[in-house]
Amino acid sequence: MTAEGDLLQYRLVAIPGDGVGPDVVAAAKRVMAAAGARFGFGVEWHDILVGGAGIDAYGMPIRPDDLAACAVSDAVLLGAVGGPKWDDPTAAVRPEQALFAMRGGLGLFANLRPVSVHPALVPASPLRPELLDGVDMLIVRELTGGLYFGERSEAAGPAGARAAHDVLPYSEPEIARVARLAFELARGRRKRLTSVDKANVLATSRLWRTVVHEIAVEYPDVALDDRLVDACAMQIVRAPASFDVLVTENLFGDILSDEASVLAGSLGMLPSASVGSRRTAHGLHGLYEPIHGSAPDIAGRDLANPIGTILSVAMLLRWSLGRADAADAVEGAVSDALDAGYRTGDIWPRSAAAADACTRVGTVAMTDAIVARVGAGAGSAAAPPDAGTPMVEPPVDDLDVGTTVATAQLPGLL
Ligand code: NAD
Repeated sequence: MTAEGDLLQYRLVAIPGDGVGPDVVAAAKRVMAAAGARFGFGVEWHDILVGGAGIDAYGMPIRPDDLAACAVSDAVLLGAVGGPKWDDPTAAVRPEQALFAMRGGLGLFANLRPVSVHPALVPASPLRPELLDGVDMLIVRELTGGLYFGERSEAAGPAGARAAHDVLPYSEPEIARVARLAFELARGRRKRLTSVDKANVLATSRLWRTVVHEIAVEYPDVALDDRLVDACAMQIVRAPASFDVLVTENLFGDILSDEASVLAGSLGMLPSASVGSRRTAHGLHGLYEPIHGSAPDIAGRDLANPIGTILSVAMLLRWSLGRADAADAVEGAVSDALDAGYRTGDIWPRSAAAADACTRVGTVAMTDAIVARVGAGAGSAAAPPDAGTPMVEPPVDDLDVGTTVATAQLPGLL
């Protein structure tokens, strides 16, 4: 952060990326500017070309200098990377390598996905309305270990007898740090934590379960239960409101969080944060992005729903900048715009009766509706916490020895 006159200036990296990424990141920047104008701060954006855009410009998905720029920023906002142009899985350079480089390089070991269903969007969900009542879960996925980072060998051998393998390693420290984060988050919410594993089959899951239970002793106020991943997958669609915080390893988290996202009616609605233990002067350093991909089928056509990215900005404000005031305002503005009937195509009601009360808008007009409400003070802190937009409270305690500043300097996080 720098000071320009009396105005606080936060330094953020923007990665528009590919496909709809530039559409939704442009929308999110407008919302951030409106929040800054209302709450008295500025944002100095540093845009970098990453993913397919990075491959086209520099021949690599992310340059070391760009990774360094992310590291010294207050936080990073990402649209999405990838698309058909770079989809060859055997290519030496691929857009998603940038994601792994950022997760590993920035120490972002946990991905947080809040899932709730705005009441106005219940008709857009494939689940029966009565199942969606009270859905408010937070999935904490371990992000830098397990199968995706283990040793592997590509298929080899004669046709008909080829073999390949992927190794699933987990160490106790890797499990402990994400478990501790999940307990902290549960403590700030409804105090229930579900740990998801496959301990009846996998040795790593048995270690996972042991370590999680050892840490549970430090959190006697949080009720812990274990769930096998297959049973959990069923429970997410059968009784989604039964969950508070879930914590699980990388592969299971990838699958379960995509499954849970369906509840909200559209991929375009949901935000996410990837965080580690490093703190800046304002909060946890992190990377924020909508959960959807680059949606090449609708890129550049004013069709993308910007809400997932705009709610990612709210998470960024809350967690990385310590601006709960502005985060509340952004979440409230999204809720109010939905209540006012604004709908992008992906959340358009299925029934004609419900559609009568709605206005179909594109990316820009939906952003206009939200920006106007942020600026006008709609959705202030007085908005009810169960208004249906994802609201995540940051952990109340220091999480790790990686803490670099005194907690007294972090009033927004305490
Ligand atoms: P996708 O999320 O891009 O799209 C799936 C469907 O959802 C499409 O029909 C799309 O039009 C729709 N959709 C997505 N976002 C939307 C939005 N904001 N508003 C309205 N509709 C939306 O998933 P995909 O098609 O499997 O992947 C496309 C590309 O994105 C691939 O190259 C994939 O590798 C990449 N991807 C990137 C990330 C990331 O950057 N973190 C994540 C997932 C996929």
